[in-house]
Amino acid sequence: MRTIAKPTLIAKDVFLECISTVNDLVLKQSYEICQDLIEAAAQDFDNKFPLLEIYQIPQNLTVLGNIGKKEMKSVYTYRMVTPGMPGNTFYNKLKNAAPYGKCPLCSVRLVETLDHYLPKSLYPILSVAPVNLIPACGSCNTEKKISFPTNSIEQTFHPYYDDVQDESWIRATLLPFEPFGFYYFVECPSNWEQIKKDRAKNHFNSFKLNELFTAHANEEFRGAKNQMKNLYNQHPNQLIEHLNEAFTSRRDELGVNSWQAVMYHSLLKDNWFIQGGVLNF
Ligand SMILES: [Zn+2]
Repeated sequence: MRTIAKPTLIAKDVFLECISTVNDLVLKQSYEICQDLIEAAAQDFDNKFPLLEIYQIPQNLTVLGNIGKKEMKSVYTYRMVTPGMPGNTFYNKLKNAAPYGKCPLCSVRLVETLDHYLPKSLYPILSVAPVNLIPACGSCNTEKKISFPTNSIEQTFHPYYDDVQDESWIRATLLPFEPFGFYYFVECPSNWEQIKKDRAKNHFNSFKLNELFTAHANEEFRGAKNQMKNLYNQHPNQLIEHLNEAFTSRRDELGVNSWQAVMYHSLLKDNWFIQGGVLNF
C-alpha cells in the first residue's frame, strides 16, 4: 500500500464543475441545491476516516429531492470520467497522482481508473468527493466493487489517510517442497495496535495480495535461480552478499513491503536456502 498526499480539491467545486454543462435547467437546479450536502458528506468522510468510523456513514440512495443514485452515477460516469467533459480535468488529476502510475492499493499493477472507497451505488452522495476517489488498477477496483466496511477492522487502508509504507508488515517464505514457490503473509510490527494489525490483514486479503505477489516472485525466482546457484558454488558467502544487495537496493528504491524486497529478504533470512538449499531448485 502506497501513500498519496490527500487531494486538496473541494468536493463542492468538483461537483459544480461537473454539472456546469447540464442543459436541462430544472435538473441543473435540482443538482445545485445538493452542493452543500455533498460538501458536508465529504467533510464527514474526512473526519471519520482517522477515527475508524467510516462504517457509521449511512447508506442513502437519495441525496436530496429527485437527485439520487442514478443521477449521481450519471454525474460521475458521464460528466467526470468522459474525456472532454468539464469534470474530466479533476478525474485525470486524481488518477495521475499515483507515483509512477502504479496502483497504490496493490503497488504492482498500473492505474486504470478511480476506485470509490465507499461505492457510489450505496453512497451516491460521495460519487465525486475527491477523498472517496482513489487511483486504482482495474483488478483492485473490481475486487471491492460493492464492499463497504461494517466495523473499524473492515476499514481497509486508504492511500490518503494511512501511511504504512515505511514499516515492514508484509513477509514471505519460500516453500521448500512441491509446489515450490513463495508464500506471502502479514506480520505487523509488534508496536502496532491490534486494530491496525487487523486492518492490515484485511487489506492484504481483500486485494488478494498473496496471489499477486507470489505470481511475480515465483517468476523472478525462476529467472534468478541459476545465478544464485552459481554464486553459491563459487562460495556460499557470495550468495549471501548478493541477496543482501538485492534486498537493500529493492527496499531502498521500491519500498520495504514491495514484493521484490520481501522476496529477497525471505531468501536472505532462510538458513536452509543459503546453506545449500538453493541447489535444490
Ligand atoms: Zn491494484
